Amino acid sequence: MNAIRAIGGILKGMSVTFREMFRPTIVENYPDGAGPYKGARFEPRFRGLHVLQRDESGLEKCVACFLCAAACPSNCIYIEAAENTAERRISGAERYAEVYNIDYNRCIFCGFCVEACPTDAITHGHGFELATFNASNLVYRKEQLLAPMPKEIQSAVQREELRAHAPEMAH
Ligand code: SF4
Ligand code: SF4
Repeated sequence: MNAIRAIGGILKGMSVTFREMFRPTIVENYPDGAGPYKGARFEPRFRGLHVLQRDESGLEKCVACFLCAAACPSNCIYIEAAENTAERRISGAERYAEVYNIDYNRCIFCGFCVEACPTDAITHGHGFELATFNASNLVYRKEQLLAPMPKEIQSAVQREELRAHAPEMAH
């Protein structure tokens, strides 16, 4: 009786194996897949590399308030603030972050900085390819974290610059 039950159990187990043999194989095609993440797929709430966001006019949303740095349990955010001027406006507020570094040797991707930010300037993106042989490569600078300028704003700025320099070029 025991032997029959054991054989029944084995057959039941093997039936699962045989069933799976005829199903299509599903794999992540990383890094040979399509798209910016080379075939890797993420859950929408995956916390990857941070992105420093811009507002609808292309200005940096970060106003250098240091709240993210204060909330960070790993002490891995380093900011140097500077004042905006009439000639050189970087953010929509009084100050902007001239230096904004995140040390990914220490970051634990907890998201506290994102929650602490009053202007939604810092968010988690889906970037995940951080591996490196050199730890100093893991200190990311503002230029690496900053969202690209929207194309339409970039062309408007270029048009404005051309117009500003047009009188000089005429001479
Ligand atoms: S995710 Fe957490 S550890 Fe990383 S920078 Fe933000 S607050 Fe610090
Ligand atoms: S990212 Fe947000 S919280 Fe951090 S300094 Fe900039 S505005 Fe303040």
